[in-house]
Amino acid sequence: MASEYIRLRGIGVSPGIALGSVRLAERVVFTSRKEIIPPEEIDKEIDRLRRSFQETKRDIAEIKNQVRDKLGKEHAFIFEAHLLILEDNSLRNEIENLIRKEQVRAEWAISRIHDHYMKVFETLEDEYFRQRRFDLSDVLSKVYRHLQPYAREAKEDDTEKILVAHELLPSEAAIKLGKGNILGVALDMGGQTSHTAILARSLNIPAVVGLRDITKKVKDGDVIIVDGTDGEVIINPPLAIRKEFISKKKKYDDYLRELRKTSKLASETLDGVRFFPLANIELPEEVSLALSLGAEGIGLFRSEFIYLRRTTIPSEEDHYQVYSQIAKKAFPFPVYIRTIDIGGEKNIPQLNIEREPNPALGLRAIRFSLKNRSIFRTQLRAVLKASIQKNVRLLIPMVTEMEEIEEVKWLLNEVKTELTREGVPFDPNLPLGVMIEVPAAATLVDEMIKEVDYVSIGTNDLIQYYLAVDRSNELVAYLYKPLHPSLLRLLKWIITSVQEAEKEVTVCGEMAADPLCALVLLGFGLRHFSMNPIFIPRIKKVLRSVEREYIKEMVEEALKLRTAQEIEEFLLERILVKYPQAFLMREITEGNRL
Ligand code: PEP
Ligand code: MG
Repeated sequence: MASEYIRLRGIGVSPGIALGSVRLAERVVFTSRKEIIPPEEIDKEIDRLRRSFQETKRDIAEIKNQVRDKLGKEHAFIFEAHLLILEDNSLRNEIENLIRKEQVRAEWAISRIHDHYMKVFETLEDEYFRQRRFDLSDVLSKVYRHLQPYAREAKEDDTEKILVAHELLPSEAAIKLGKGNILGVALDMGGQTSHTAILARSLNIPAVVGLRDITKKVKDGDVIIVDGTDGEVIINPPLAIRKEFISKKKKYDDYLRELRKTSKLASETLDGVRFFPLANIELPEEVSLALSLGAEGIGLFRSEFIYLRRTTIPSEEDHYQVYSQIAKKAFPFPVYIRTIDIGGEKNIPQLNIEREPNPALGLRAIRFSLKNRSIFRTQLRAVLKASIQKNVRLLIPMVTEMEEIEEVKWLLNEVKTELTREGVPFDPNLPLGVMIEVPAAATLVDEMIKEVDYVSIGTNDLIQYYLAVDRSNELVAYLYKPLHPSLLRLLKWIITSVQEAEKEVTVCGEMAADPLCALVLLGFGLRHFSMNPIFIPRIKKVLRSVEREYIKEMVEEALKLRTAQEIEEFLLERILVKYPQAFLMREITEGNRL
């Protein structure tokens, strides 16, 4: 009785498994018909467009309140961003100019402007930045819909369904997923850092995106399985497969329940050594999720993401709003705001950054900030202003030499003097730290630490530079080994040097989120582990399952080995024997990947 079924591979962006029937979301289809209008109708057309903008603004403000009441303030933030896009007259002016210049219907003008911006955003290399085109698309779709009130969306039913769509505009995601009747999400488009992905993760809705053409393969009412853990979708699965997934779902749900329990437990190893799980975030919306998963602070806020929510250069007030929002939500836990890490491959259209032949080694991060002083000063002013909250800390990315620290401190003092003169309050003792990502900074950390309050090791970049392996090049991915003995020696040196100076050291690269690596770091004496929030319960559980003293000795022995593989095998074996409970969940996790 084998029925026709289809398996599709995509990107799992929110783990878990959902089984249910499909609801296909409608989408706005922009017109491809260039309708010319007589000159005397132009003013009327522009009025029509302005009315649409007004109505859209009113709608968004209303939705913002609804979402805030239902899902919380952090999810309503996206609508603030949309209101800002709508209030920025340059977008409307562009459309109006097109209507006048080409004497066309507003629909066509919007469609052209929409296409233009989608193409511009599409050329961006950074996935997250590229994703931001959906905000603009979202706003323009709404304005477009208001031009055609008869084409408004049909009323939706409230039964539990799996939402399948080409792509979900950010506001649609908040409204649709926030209703509480969406079991899972499957999209043609999208990536890890899209709003839908972030929202689905925080609402615990399994989601797979990047499925290319699932909307063409299903119809309303089809039964599908969304496996967000493995990034797979199965359309009309036969009974045997359904059963298999129901049992996988149960296993995953139990595992999650078990893990979540750890968020309430003390962050302490079996022999009472305190550690601090911290979160790496990119959006203020992620703070609540991070705290609910057990984060005891925001170890890394990648502030460059502020640029993505707007098409213009963010003002001091824009920066300030974001920082103070995060600081308030996370209070009394610390929030480490990293100054922008852009330049090179992380290009942003509003900054007109030149393409470089070797972007990873180019004008990025602090190098960019020191060359673009006014942008940097704006950011420093905003961080200082937000520092009255007293839990704000500053973090400088990709430092290479002492002079950069001196320069930052000098600038910081200048900005402080300026603020004092203006009578603006700030924390004069705002703590300052640097990220250790460049090998030269790593070996000089014993000197650098004298000049700063703490360091944070960005292993993602440190590995790429130390092992000379491009972190995003699949061809050399086999060489990207966090357990490479040379790297471990270096990490041990950094951690020990900082601790000898009695200062704080964090690891905020992906290494901190890997159970085995986290244990090695604990062995070196690390206490602060910063990672993507969803990994916190897992790491917390691993660290709680071991004695730090034993791990320390074990790691010392491991350091005598010569290859990453030998080290990994040695560590796994030792831990399996001594702490089988620490690995129970590892086995389950691997089971999930089967
Ligand atoms: C790192 O390099 O480890 C890091 C945390 O920074 P990013 O991943 O943003 O480069
Ligand atoms: Mg980095």
